[in-house]
Amino acid sequence: MKKLVVIGAGMASGRLLDHLTQEQASFEVTLFNAEPRGTYNRIMLSSVLAGEKNLDEIMTHPASWYETRGIICRFGEKVIGIDPKGKTVFGEKGPVRYDKLVIATGSSSFIIPMEGSWLDGVIGYRDVEDTLRMIESAGNSVRDVVVIGGGVLGLEAAAGLQARGAHVTVLHNTSYLMNRQLDEVAAGFLRAEIEARGIRVICGAKTQGILGDDGKVTAVEVEGIPPIKADLVVMAAGIKPNVDLAKAAGLDIGRAIKVSASLQTSDPDIYALGECIEFQGLTFGLVAPIFDQAKVLSERLLGRHANFEIKETSTKLKVTGCDLFSAGDFDDEKGTETLVYTDPLNAQYRKVVLKENRVHGVVLYGDTRDGNWFFDLIRSKTDIPSIRETLLFGRAYHDLVLASVDPHHTEQLRAIS
Ligand SMILES: Cc1cc2nc3c(=O)[nH]c(=O)nc-3n(C[C@H](O)[C@H](O)[C@H](O)COP(=O)(O)OP(=O)(O)OC[C@H]3O[C@@H](n4cnc5c(N)ncnc54)[C@H](O)[C@@H]3O)c2cc1C
Repeated sequence: MKKLVVIGAGMASGRLLDHLTQEQASFEVTLFNAEPRGTYNRIMLSSVLAGEKNLDEIMTHPASWYETRGIICRFGEKVIGIDPKGKTVFGEKGPVRYDKLVIATGSSSFIIPMEGSWLDGVIGYRDVEDTLRMIESAGNSVRDVVVIGGGVLGLEAAAGLQARGAHVTVLHNTSYLMNRQLDEVAAGFLRAEIEARGIRVICGAKTQGILGDDGKVTAVEVEGIPPIKADLVVMAAGIKPNVDLAKAAGLDIGRAIKVSASLQTSDPDIYALGECIEFQGLTFGLVAPIFDQAKVLSERLLGRHANFEIKETSTKLKVTGCDLFSAGDFDDEKGTETLVYTDPLNAQYRKVVLKENRVHGVVLYGDTRDGNWFFDLIRSKTDIPSIRETLLFGRAYHDLVLASVDPHHTEQLRAIS
């Protein structure tokens, strides 16, 4: 059997090995993971932080899962080098030869290089260890937390820590929260909900540095306001693809490891997938495209044809009580038409952007039940003139109207219900 070595047991390689192990074994697989465990659903760390799940519940592929499928696990062992000429990977405890290599090293939290960012008490939000540190801190010594970054990760960290009793301040450098995933109106509703929980939000914040005493963080300096007291600072200001190994091995690197549509790197025997790759100038920070990559790569490794394609993605926030959804391109630009519904009293907002008779983008706040319906309309590029009048009110309303004019449709609906 050929030897396949996989570096990283994260969500990307977990899905890849799901696919590969469903087929007749064609490889002897060795799986390295720097973390001392198998694969878990990283997305659900926010539910662990919020106290809604425990770590066992989010393990998708523990060591036993891999071992029963004949995969050699080298967990808690970092790969420290790759020799592409000798087709060898060097783990901390020794080398392994490969016929094919997969790099799935993911990303690390981007720690903003500012004064004091090295202090004890400044952490990222990426893995189990970060999450446990936050849980332990919030339950013990930590009363004041500053979260730098008001995107999805920062807000999930803030909500979880606040629920555990910490006083939390979120610093966000642009004028409204989640500015990449929401428009200003939806972000306004979100901010009101977050503040109603007792979390302080400062938008347009220019963070200048982190102050400390005796090596430990004490406060965060923000331009124009007094220092904000902090026992813990969580940096949620972006991610940095883990490319050092690939770079040292001489692979082509841009913002991340460059791959083709077959997920092949500049070395024909080395593939890469997940947050550590760059494809057509883009990097990836959501699991939907990464799971597509896993399917494509398994096909390729099995000798079949498949190519990775970029598709639309959607966003949700995993904070109970903050229901929002966005997908596609929802900026008002030339050639677009915008349908909007706002109910400030009930914190409901819907914005649907149309372009060339198709749904181009959507933002929902409050009631997000139609999110996937709109997302399907975007992805399928459905012509909408016939449903335009009812479109904004979502699928259920659309079905009701159809039912009132088309008895056949009423029967269909009855059959479904
Ligand atoms: C708190 C949180 C919430 C998130 N929420 C969402 C969400 O709601 N929706 C969504 O789509 N995405 C979400 N994401 C992003 C999603 O989790 C990532 O896109 C996905 O996990 C990336 O998978 P990956 O396998 O590329 O990297 P990872 O899952 O990070 O796995 C990489 C693995 O490689 C290991 N590794 C790195 N270097 C080495 C080395 N040299 N040797 C051995 N092992 C190594 C690492 O230890 C790690 O275990 C969230 C992420 C976080 C942190």
